Amino acid sequence: MPAIAVKTKAYAAASPTEPLAPFEIERREPGDDDVVIEIKFCGICHSDIHQVRDEWGGTKFPIVPGHEIVGVISQVGSGVTKFKVGDRAGVGCFVASCGECENCTHGLEQFCAKGAAFTYNSFEMDKKTATYGGYSERIVVNERYVLRVPDALPLDATAPLLCAGITLYSPLRHWKAGPGKRVAIVGLGGLGHMGVKLAHAMGAEVTVLSQSKAKEADAKRLGADHYFATEDKAVFTTLAGRFDLIINTVSAVLDWNAYLGMLKTDSTMVLLGIPDNDVPLDAGSLVRGRKSLSGSMIGGIEETQEMLDFCARHDIVSDIELTAIGDVNAAYDRVVKSDVRYRFVIDMSTL
Ligand code: NAP
Ligand code: ZN
Repeated sequence: MPAIAVKTKAYAAASPTEPLAPFEIERREPGDDDVVIEIKFCGICHSDIHQVRDEWGGTKFPIVPGHEIVGVISQVGSGVTKFKVGDRAGVGCFVASCGECENCTHGLEQFCAKGAAFTYNSFEMDKKTATYGGYSERIVVNERYVLRVPDALPLDATAPLLCAGITLYSPLRHWKAGPGKRVAIVGLGGLGHMGVKLAHAMGAEVTVLSQSKAKEADAKRLGADHYFATEDKAVFTTLAGRFDLIINTVSAVLDWNAYLGMLKTDSTMVLLGIPDNDVPLDAGSLVRGRKSLSGSMIGGIEETQEMLDFCARHDIVSDIELTAIGDVNAAYDRVVKSDVRYRFVIDMSTL
């Protein structure tokens, strides 16, 4: 029987230069393993802006962004075991993967060898059906790629955990942030502020490296032990050889060599932001001190659930500013100016 499509209200951009505007998409009827989620809130990640404005190239228009999705399940397929109607649920940056490759079977679905189906600006695993994200009424997803949202967490401020939260949690765990470890978070934005809260909860000594002094009081309130403004270049000398782990959330081109100078021997700087241009790297910055430069991308489903459960135990959510969908274009401009404390979340009841 051919799948019946369900008409669904959404917001989309038709081209890189046009604002997001009302649009209609079709969601599939749920299959045996699918759940239907009525979307209540969706975070605005800077990656939404990069892709809507085609700053990474190759955006498929029209684009319906949004990969920090939380809502309530309204329908379940006959084979669904994890969820029932009425459950609170989340969807992050991908909605399917092959499930069979070495990465998928090791909980690293985001690196699926066949290419994961990302939540928007991507294709389902058939590589033909376009995916549309969370700036929409509802989404239909195989239950395997859906997260349980613990009852202790408020839905609105939990939305950003689905991308910003897991993107910081995963490298903090992988590089073993914890007691006795000095962790620096570069850039106090949507990602960075989650990094401060999570690293602090893990017991690490947390330093924020921000462009200016403007966010110092906030950083301390969020859990930072130390704060430095990198506009003062003396900071790079003061902090030479200090950190066990530096997590760089900034997508602007920074002097990575200068930041590597702040690592201890045998320590790592992890890149999360993706600059548009190549960044000069001096081999000496790594060779002297056996240092590593790495990267990290979101996290797998099991680890994302672990992160949500960790946040429920430690009372961690995102600091958010709620916005109506009609104000989304103005919100984008404010994110680009770093003028949000610290994540916009769209109230989808305004759609
Ligand atoms: P955001 O909320 O805009 O935060 C970025 C922060 O970077 C700003 O708050 C600012 O912090 C700093 N910054 C901005 N412009 C800068 C400049 N010119 N020079 C130095 N610092 C600057 O963005 P976000 O949502 O956290 O995302 C950050 C980046 O990570 C984006 O590129 C996004 O696409 C990427 N991302 C990666 C992953 C992944 O899995 N790897 C996942 C999600 C997002 P200060 O004011 O404190 O300096
Ligand atoms: Zn994101």
